[in-house]
Amino acid sequence: MLITAANIYVAQTGYRRAVILEIETDAGISGIGEVGIAYGAGTQAAAAMAEEMLTRFVIGKDPSRIELIWNTIYDVSFWTKGGSAIAMAGLSGIEHALWDIKGKALGVPVYELFGGAVTDQLPVYANGWWNTCRTDDDYAAAAEATVARGYRGLKYYPLGEHDPDTVIRHPSRRRAADDIDARVYDRIAKIRERVGDRIDILLDFGGGLTSDQLARILRRIEPLNITFVEEPVDPGLPRALELISRKTSIPLAAGERHYTRYGIHPILESGAVSIVQPDICNTGGLLEGRKIAALAEIYNARVAPHNYGSALATVISAQLSACIPNFMVLECFPDFDKEPGFEPVIDNPLEPQVRDGLMPLPAGPGLGARLSDTMRASSLWARIEPEAPRESVGFG
Ligand SMILES: [Mg+2]
Repeated sequence: MLITAANIYVAQTGYRRAVILEIETDAGISGIGEVGIAYGAGTQAAAAMAEEMLTRFVIGKDPSRIELIWNTIYDVSFWTKGGSAIAMAGLSGIEHALWDIKGKALGVPVYELFGGAVTDQLPVYANGWWNTCRTDDDYAAAAEATVARGYRGLKYYPLGEHDPDTVIRHPSRRRAADDIDARVYDRIAKIRERVGDRIDILLDFGGGLTSDQLARILRRIEPLNITFVEEPVDPGLPRALELISRKTSIPLAAGERHYTRYGIHPILESGAVSIVQPDICNTGGLLEGRKIAALAEIYNARVAPHNYGSALATVISAQLSACIPNFMVLECFPDFDKEPGFEPVIDNPLEPQVRDGLMPLPAGPGLGARLSDTMRASSLWARIEPEAPRESVGFG
């Protein structure tokens, strides 16, 4: 089997712009993947990175040789090493599509190729439930409503400000209000009072404050039974992460802005995190995510994949989550489809199938996701074909 062509789509999915790729083969099997730069800045750059990688390193190759293609791109692209989000997102999307092709060719879900499922359903937590909230009472009411829908875990951004351009604006210039510790405490306390003790409350700090500020906040919220605090410090500060971990009993989590096993290693080595959060759509893909999970086991840590892309990203994350023994919980945004300008990327999303905080495993061979024909028609960004007919280029 040889790879003959590829399509790249840039789809507007509510407030995000999903970069999706589709790899075609001469066997009539195609595979899909997501280039995980759906928010912030970088959509066009990520699409262009995927286009160049596909053109130079993938078209004409045997799609079954996933490790070989991954390592060739990783070694030859240069900017993949050292932690480039754009480059690693491009490589991740390609890698997903190759596993999709392999699974379809063999007639099995991708998780069967990674040792088989270790669970039949995946615990998920809800994010985005706070989208229209402005006051503490809004948050408490929305939290209660989300729990009533069956979610057992709720994440939000206690230091984030509502922002019309970016949805949430994390702290900048290391600045927070003088009474930030009281503000954070009051909101969580209201939520905790409303949802009870058995619901997980997960906090994302967005990596913006200094150690002294964080110590004050964490000390204040310590009694509120927080499941984890995510990215308390800038992702470039593993030493500060370690310092903060010594000042709190609240578990710390990080990893969504660290790429590959090499990038995750320093935060595990710091001893500060008990949960790592690789994004399977930009950390290097499914197999890289599996390697990170194995690395996390060595440091006695669990994996809670970061998942803030399209519904395809959720399916991809679910495939990996299904087969890693130290999986903790998967991030889930159940209300993306209610955002203005939302366009479905796939026809069979998992989010609407969540019941009692559990998501079913994807069904069918490969990734188990079907691209929407409407999205394909409206969002084609580039089609890539060989410049001239050629035999397999091979790897020499
Ligand atoms: Mg985060």
